[in-house]
Formats: sequence, C-alpha cells, structure tokens
Amino acid sequence: MTLIVQKYGGTSVGSVERIRNVARRIAQSQSLGHQIVVVVSAMSGETNRLIALAHEIQKYPDPRELDVMISTGEQITIALLSMALIEIGVKAKSYTGGQVKILTDDAYTKARILKIDENRLRKDLEDGYIVVVAGFQGVDESGNITTLGRGGSDTTGVALAAVLRAEECQIYTDVDGVYTTDPRIVPEARRLKTITFEEMLEMASLGSKVLQIRSVEFAGKYKVKLRVLSSFQEGGDGTLITFEEDRNMEQAIISGIAFSRDEAKITVLGVPDRPGIAYQILGPVADANIDVDMIIQNIGHDGLTDFSFTVHRHEFVRTMSMLKDKVQSHVGARDVIGDDKTAKVSIVGVGMRSHVGIASKMFRVLAEEGINIQMISTSEIKISVVVDEKYMELAVRALHKSFDLDQIP
Ligand code: ADP
Ligand code: ASP
Ligand code: MG
Repeated sequence: MTLIVQKYGGTSVGSVERIRNVARRIAQSQSLGHQIVVVVSAMSGETNRLIALAHEIQKYPDPRELDVMISTGEQITIALLSMALIEIGVKAKSYTGGQVKILTDDAYTKARILKIDENRLRKDLEDGYIVVVAGFQGVDESGNITTLGRGGSDTTGVALAAVLRAEECQIYTDVDGVYTTDPRIVPEARRLKTITFEEMLEMASLGSKVLQIRSVEFAGKYKVKLRVLSSFQEGGDGTLITFEEDRNMEQAIISGIAFSRDEAKITVLGVPDRPGIAYQILGPVADANIDVDMIIQNIGHDGLTDFSFTVHRHEFVRTMSMLKDKVQSHVGARDVIGDDKTAKVSIVGVGMRSHVGIASKMFRVLAEEGINIQMISTSEIKISVVVDEKYMELAVRALHKSFDLDQIP
C-alpha cells in the first residue's frame, strides 16, 4: 500500500461545500488503495481576518499570542474535514500540530520544523484512518504554539511526506499546476508539466506564492516527489517538481517569471567610502531582525559613495526611522531616502547557464516599454530588476511575450 500526503489550501476548503468536495476526493484516493495523510490550511481569508483582529488590539501584536490565535484557523478545518469524511463513511481523525508533535524552533510567526513524531500517525494509518493534520503550525520545546510563516501549510505537507517517506506529496490548490507566471496577471500563462527543483526554489523565493519556499527546500533536501494540482479539476497531472537530471533536453531558456510587490528600496546617500561602511549600515538592520534582499554599493567618487538595498515593504517605515535615528549621523551620511512603491520582477530558467544575451534581451524589452530599471541583481539561473510598482504588470506581460513563454517550446 502506498502512502500519499495531500495538502489542500485555503480556497479549496473555503466553504462547507468545498470541504465536502475535498472529502469526496480523499475517499476516492483511498479507494484506489492508498494510505492518506491530509494537511489543510485555514478557510480562505481566515488567517488574514485573525491577523487584522490582532492589529486592532496591538499595533505590533505580541508574537507568541499572535501564533496562539492564527493557528486556530487550521484547527477548525481539520475538524470540519474529518467530520465530512466520517459523514460519508470514511474513518478519519484530526490532529493539531502540537498533538502530532511537530516540533519547531521558537521563532514565533516564522518557526522552522525541527522534528516530527510519526508514531501516532503511523498507528492510525495502520488502523485504516485518514489522518488530517493542521498545516502551518507546531510547538516549540516548551510547548508554546508556533506558526511557520504565511503559506506554511505547504511546508507541513512536504515535511510530513519526508518523515513518512510518502510516495508523493500532492499540493492541491486553486490552479492546476505551476504556470510560466501567475495566471491571474497573464491569462496566456502556460502550465508547466515539470519544473526543476532549482527553478521552483527561485520562483518561490522571488514571489510566486504557489509554493512556500521552505516546502521546496524540504523537498530538495529529502528528495520528496512534489506535485502541484487543482482541487477543483479531476484527473490532471498538474506540475511535477523534478531534479534536473530527469528533465528532457528540449527546454526553454526561461521557464518562468516571478514578481513581488513587497519591495521597498532604501538609499543611504553620500557615505564615506571606507572599510566597514556596509557593516555599519546593515549591522543594525540585521540586529533588528529585518531581512535585506538586494544590495548595491556604487563606485566611490570624491571619497563618498551611495549605498542602496531593499527590504520587505512592511519593514520600510521601521528601517527608515532606524537609519535616520541611529545610522545616518553615526556613519556621516548626507541623507537617507526611500521608496516603498517599488516591485521586483524576475526571470528564471536553468537554460540561462548555457545561453548568453538573456539579460540584455530583458533590459531591451523593458526599455521598449519605457520602464526604468532601478536595481538589478543576477544569479546563475535568474535575473531580477526593481521597477516602479505601477509598471510591474506591464513588465511581466511584456517579458512573458518576448520570451515566448506563451508558446510550447
Ligand atoms: P493555497 O491557498 O491553495 O495555498 P495560494 O493562493 O497560496 O493557494 O497559491 C495559489 C496561487 O498562486 C494561485 O491562485 C496563483 O494566483 C498564484 N501563483 C503565483 N505564481 C504562480 C505560478 N507561477 N503558477 C501558478 N500559480 C501562481
Ligand atoms: N493559513 C496560513 C496562511 O494563510 C497557512 C497556509 O494557508 O498555508 O498563510
Ligand atoms: Mg499557499
């Protein structure tokens, strides 16, 4: 008997009718002879609702208490789904993260999974139960409830598949696979039959929220067979995340385009060009637990230089005031300026390794659309640019067309 982990996202369990639909699908998979562990998210909109509620009480909600609260969304859906299964005659049992014992570190709101106790789940599976586990949550060593960051149910699913050595981890969502870019922005986007693990890792880290980045990291580390599928359509193959050597040779240079509106750009102007400056600027930022993404330091002139970097838009105000209060006078900078109306657009593809001229083509396409590039960053298989937020969708569409992503390669 093969063991499969199936994860259903918020939209897929967004109403009682949809929960019943998910129960029917699970029953069907079980009747094919599989043992099934199911991971569910909160009903769509619920986590946002809970976060907003917390913000009505505290501007910066206490992280421990926030996790106590936002983990409740998933506790509701595991129980409802189990009831729906029992109602159609399928044995089912629900577990919160703490009950399974999904042990995490104590970084509230962005905890990492350290260990999963598989004993209880194994026993239930052997006894013929469908095991329904709450996504997105765990407990730390002292028994505090933790959550895994937005989109974290994907990671619960892949981590369970890894420890249980499941045949496959199936991520059921509201699209029928991973597309060349978000189909909500580009209707011509194409579903990819396969995408390499490395490409998926880049896409996820550059803003494609179809999979949480940590779930992709887990899949890579434990070689979990990971597939993205639709919970609404029957019978498609979805998109399989492959490890490069499996992939056939016939492939596009660019596989996909990712984008993120969550960027804010900050520039420290006129800092003395001397050793230690990057550390003096970014040290306090790191100490305040603010993640920095792109970093650019200009060539110095007349002993001075400009230093730019990007942070998550939510951290913009905090970062700006910290730089102005603590860093500007300390390093002797002329000014600190910033813009939180920026976005990042990235093209991703392993084919870039063996092809030249991809960056210049990207820059030409943006130039032809009159889009100014504010920052650039590259790695072996991706090129990212920061642009004015109002041109983000235009940039994505133009690049999608110019790189023929709407055509079958
Ligand atoms: P779930 O609630 O099931 O976890 P998410 O909303 O987190 O679903 O992720 C699915 C959404 O991801 C899709 O509805 C789609 O708009 C978006 N998305 C972004 N980039 C892509 C992509 N490259 N391919 C498919 N979907 C994408
Ligand atoms: N409910 C959580 C969120 O909205 C986790 C998830 O859906 O994966 O981020
Ligand atoms: Mg998600």
